Amino acid sequence: MELAVWGHPATELPAGKDSAADIETWLGKLRDAGVSIYIPFVTGGARPVFGGELLGEAERDLFGPVIEVAHSLGIEVHPIIGLGRVTPGFSETEGFYVPLASPGEDLPSWSARWVDPAWEENVATICAVSRQLLDDYDCDGLHMDAVRYANSVVLNEHPCVCERCREARKEWLGKEVPDEEDLANPGVTALEIQMREDFVRGLAEELREICDERELPLSLAGRARYLKDAVPEGQNWAQWSADGLLDFVCSMSYNPCFDRFQRFVEQHTRILEGSDTRLYAGVGRKSSLGTLSPEDMIRQFEYLDEVGVEGACIFSARALEDEDFRLLAGFMAQAG
Ligand SMILES: [Zn+2]
Repeated sequence: MELAVWGHPATELPAGKDSAADIETWLGKLRDAGVSIYIPFVTGGARPVFGGELLGEAERDLFGPVIEVAHSLGIEVHPIIGLGRVTPGFSETEGFYVPLASPGEDLPSWSARWVDPAWEENVATICAVSRQLLDDYDCDGLHMDAVRYANSVVLNEHPCVCERCREARKEWLGKEVPDEEDLANPGVTALEIQMREDFVRGLAEELREICDERELPLSLAGRARYLKDAVPEGQNWAQWSADGLLDFVCSMSYNPCFDRFQRFVEQHTRILEGSDTRLYAGVGRKSSLGTLSPEDMIRQFEYLDEVGVEGACIFSARALEDEDFRLLAGFMAQAG
């Protein structure tokens, strides 16, 4: 079984504890536990650890040393890029998802800062950052996170009414903003989702080309609830896989409830059938959905091994402690 982890190098290796020796100790623990792919957040947040002229100055140059040490340990590094808040868009003030809201309606703050792929400037910026990452560093692939519209929980009732989405809607809806009747019409919903999918997929296709030019794999953090989240948010990863856009999908199947996890894995295995895309099922040690004990985390790995899933991706590296590393190493030593 291939074992990957999503990582947050800025917090796993805080300033002052980020010497080459510190990095080697940390990544060495991952390697000894059987991890072969490290998938770090490097472009976003208040403290990016990768700089260059496109993103401004990095807090510190951490990505370069991380890649170097990872390679010396035999670990691949696939940096994360994406929409939402993963990679900054082209502007501080423009190009964001604008939820259709009633006057005075309170919406979550994240929804106001979601980089929107309807803006080709955003797509161009993310592609340029990706090229720079792959050209300046010896990356082993590229990983897409939040390559989709904002969470369906807000999006379903609040379609984007930014300048570009309004413009696009004129063609197929005949007006810029859907009214209440439109929102209840399945035909409008179908075309609204198609519009989102076209924009999001446009970015995924360009990133595929960028990876192909360098003969590198492209992967995705795929929304766990395929029909409830992935499809309405314009991230039809089953279709992208069938069309050869993805080398592997790290499905966000992490869930502290074993039954729920199992149902996700069954569904994700089924929807990838017939494609060449590998499934690395997401296993959450600690996520927004809850915490697993090290033993319960291993139980999820054992299930994946039993049913022959090709890989797993842990959320996230910084949640792993000595007991996890010990149990993981034991599991990986006997896994298929
Ligand atoms: Zn928009």
